[in-house]
This record gives sequence, structure tokens and C-alpha cells, in this order.
Amino acid sequence: MSFLIVGASVAGTRTAIALRQRGFSGHIVLLESEEHWPYDKPPLSKDLLAEGHVPDVPRLLTPELAAEFALDVRLGMRATGLDPARRVVFTHTGDEFSYERLVIATGAHARSLPIPAVPGVHTLRTLDDATALREALAGRPRVAVVGAGFIGAEFASAARGRGLDVTLIEALEIPMSHVFGDEVGREISSIHTLHGAGLVTGARVERFLGSEQVEGVALAGGTEVPADLVVVGVGAVPNTHWLADSGLPIDGGVHCSDRFEVEGFPSIFAIGDLALRRHPLLGVSARIEHWTSAGEQADAVAAFVTGAEPLAAQLPYVWSDQYGARIQMVGMPSLGELAHREGSIAEGRFRAVYTDTDHNPIAQVSVNDPRAVAAFRKNHRRGGSLADLVGQQTSAR
Ligand SMILES: Cc1cc2nc3c(=O)[nH]c(=O)nc-3n(C[C@H](O)[C@H](O)[C@H](O)COP(=O)(O)OP(=O)(O)OC[C@H]3O[C@@H](n4cnc5c(N)ncnc54)[C@H](O)[C@@H]3O)c2cc1C
Repeated sequence: MSFLIVGASVAGTRTAIALRQRGFSGHIVLLESEEHWPYDKPPLSKDLLAEGHVPDVPRLLTPELAAEFALDVRLGMRATGLDPARRVVFTHTGDEFSYERLVIATGAHARSLPIPAVPGVHTLRTLDDATALREALAGRPRVAVVGAGFIGAEFASAARGRGLDVTLIEALEIPMSHVFGDEVGREISSIHTLHGAGLVTGARVERFLGSEQVEGVALAGGTEVPADLVVVGVGAVPNTHWLADSGLPIDGGVHCSDRFEVEGFPSIFAIGDLALRRHPLLGVSARIEHWTSAGEQADAVAAFVTGAEPLAAQLPYVWSDQYGARIQMVGMPSLGELAHREGSIAEGRFRAVYTDTDHNPIAQVSVNDPRAVAAFRKNHRRGGSLADLVGQQTSAR
């Protein structure tokens, strides 16, 4: 059997390595559109933007590892089409790659605003994006960040860490309220103002000011936020354009089963940021755009195709580092009700627990409290109650 893996970031490289670790000895080819050896993305919005020594970006694969695992890695090779009937992937060079099993792991790209960009307006998704931003930050610009989600918040934090003037511009009245709900969204996003960043909420960006170089952001209603550097962090769009004529079920992601088989195409798997499936523990269809999930999905595919025991589904987990604080989220808070909160951002430690309609904990957000994450997971596995998790004394709000 042979495997073709398209996209060599965390989902793709982890699949290849997991296949080898589980004893798969057939041919494995990885196609990757970037020229860089595969690297990890989380440091791009964190350590890589900090002032001073430039840290090495952790590599997901090196020439040595590729040789050790006998992986045929084709960098700078962009897939442009797929013919599932012939089991062939086409590339921009005109080469065709045939496969017996295909893994689609082409992830996502940063969403842009539907207005003309000008020089000085950036997005942050790739190593080249982060390198360009690092260089731009060294010029000590005034910074505006459009979007106060995880990426925007981390960029704002890095820029404040350099002592720069930073203003976040957010469309929602309460940043992250779509993820955490109003009360916790308000608490978590207070981290920005606590660390001296400006925060404009309920704002709609109309246009960027300047022509040769960005001079600011014009908002509906007439407000102008002056800036020499703008980062747009308004989410990511799945990289499915190359599959448009393939006949695969694509609608906001690649639709796949519990085992990540693409619906109707059993020899094709889709994993990582672009995989859309009904999550067995959450009971809803979702694309989970988190680093840990991409790795878990890769291992699940490798286990399935090598005939190992199916791996148990995990609750989604994401972390975010902002202003020296670590924010961790397990589960999907928007599916539950806020049932318990303790601490605050100002105190440097915070936790919120969400329950389902039966009052069982289904999600948690915590700040600077890694033990709370382990405790939540353990309680969830056991089917424990809110009182089991937070103690009888503190369970009442
Ligand atoms: C700046 C940043 C910081 C992050 N920080 C965190 C964090 O702190 N915690 C967390 O949980 N998650 C974080 N994430 C999210 C996490 O990195 C993603 O969930 C993860 O990278 C998804 O992996 P993936 O392999 O599915 O997709 P991607 O990482 O998007 O990789 C897709 C790969 O496919 C390649 N590709 C695309 N199209 C083609 C094509 N047509 N042909 C060939 N190759 C193609 C791309 O070049 C890319 O290498 C962060 C993401 C970013 C961008």
C-alpha cells in the first residue's frame, strides 16, 4: 500500500511519523507547497515575535528525520487538483502523484478583510508572515490589531511586550464572547487593558488609511485608529480550493466520518484544520482548529489503517499565551452554560466551568492553572459532577 499526504504541517507530518511508528512499511510521499522544512506554528505568534534573540522555530520534520522514517518529502510542490476515480493528485509543476490512500492535510490560510489592503497590513499564519512581522516590529511602529481572537490577542501581547502602542479593534461588543460567553469573554479580554493595550469593541473596519504605507484604520461611524502596522486576525479559511473539481464533499471544510474518512471516499482521509466532522464527544459538527487535535487526528488515522485499536476521541484542547499568562480551554464552552467561576485576570489566576443541561461539566477555561486542566479531564473521563470538580463549597455561583 502507498500513502500520499498533501500538506506537511502538524497534521501531515504527524500522520507520516505515526504510520511508521505503527509499523507501516509502504511508500509515503508528502507534498508541501512551502519551501521551508515543516515547522510548528504556535511559536510564530509568541516567542518568535519577542524582542532580542531569535529562537529557532521547532521543526516538525528535518532531512535527517525524513531519512530515518523513509519519507519521500517534496517541498515547494503545490497540489492543484484531485481525480479520485484515477487516484491521482495534480500539482502546479504538471507532475501527477498516484496513491492508494490519500491524506488531505492542507490546513487553512488567514482570512483577509474584504477591503483593499495597503503596505503595512499583514496577516499571521506562516513562518514568512512571522519573520516579516518581527522585522516590522523592530521599527517600533504604532500597532493596530483587527480581531481580538487568539492570534490577534497573542500578537497584541507580543507587541506590548516590546513596549509598543497597541490598539485592538474587535467587531463583537465583548471579545471572545462567541467562544466563552459574555461574562467570561469580558473577564478574559480584560487582559489587554490590564497590560496597557487599547481595545475598541463593536467596531466595523471600513478601510485602511494611507496609500504607500498604512497610516491607520478607519471605522464605521468615523473613528480613526492611527497605526504604522496593522495585523488582521479574523480567522482562517480551509485550504480546499484545490479540491473544488474533485467531487469531494466540501462545504466549510472537508466532511468526514469519525475515522476521518472523507464521506463517500473511503480511501481518502481529511485531518487537521480543514476536517469537518461530527465530534463524538461534543455531538456537533465542527472544524477543530487546534494544534493538539491535529496530532490526535493524525494518530487516529494511522491507528485505523494499521489495524490497531481505535483511539478514544478527546475533547478539543487549546492553549494561548498572552502577556505572560497561559490560557487553556478544554471542550467547547459555547455548548454549555457557565456554572462556576473563580479568580480573575487581575489576580493572575482564573477558572470557569461550563455544564450541559444535566449539570455535568463539559468545558472549562482556565488561566495560569495547568492542574485545573488535568483535573477537568480526569473528572470528565469519570463522568464526575460539578461538585466533584470544584468542591461543594464553591460550586454555587
Ligand atoms: C500563528 C499561529 C499560532 C497558533 N498557536 C496555537 C496555540 O497556541 N495553540 C493551539 O492549540 N493552536 C495554535 N495554532 C493552531 C495550530 O497551529 C493549527 O491548528 C495547526 O497548525 C493545524 O495543522 P494542519 O496541519 O491541519 O494545518 P496547517 O498548519 O495550516 O498546515 C497545512 C499545510 O499544508 C500546506 N498546503 C496548503 N495547501 C497546499 C497545497 N495545495 N499543496 C500542498 N501543500 C499545501 C501548507 O503550506 C501547510 O504547511 C496556531 C496557529 C497559528 C497560525
